[in-house]
Amino acid sequence: MTEEKLNALARDLYAKHFGREFKGEVVLSRKMRVSAGNCRPDGRIALNLPYCEKYGEDEAVRVLKHELAHLFLFQTVGNHSHKDRVFNEILDRIGGAKVAKPMPAIIFVYACPKCHKEWRFARKDNRARSCNECSLKKGDYCKEAKIELLRTTLWVPGTELPA
Ligand SMILES: [Zn+2]
Ligand SMILES: [Zn+2]
Repeated sequence: MTEEKLNALARDLYAKHFGREFKGEVVLSRKMRVSAGNCRPDGRIALNLPYCEKYGEDEAVRVLKHELAHLFLFQTVGNHSHKDRVFNEILDRIGGAKVAKPMPAIIFVYACPKCHKEWRFARKDNRARSCNECSLKKGDYCKEAKIELLRTTLWVPGTELPA
């Protein structure tokens, strides 16, 4: 789902459910790790991109609705919390997410250029490492067998590591 589409959807949903013009902006963030989305009182809404990629469009819309409910309350009552009855009533009415699904983590998959063996790291690894099997002298760094970043993948901890 593109940011353009999300912004159009935010305008539609805000008009439909709250009778107001959405003057904010929706962005997809690659850097969010702990929440599915957030909303500032000025109308800037960020959605967690890896989360949206992992769980798909329907879930992204549910999170967007949650953030629009925040925006509506910022613009009307001001301070509010997830525990407030009014917030939960709005979510029930419009189908907004109440609880986020487990946050996916980005896993970095590295591979040996010679034997194609793969390694998975929780972070980008910029140190020069080589595949021990394919190094000219085992145990020593070997430029020809330097492992390279192949791709990234998303992993929900508690589930099996993706291939
Ligand atoms: Zn919230
Ligand atoms: Zn190798």
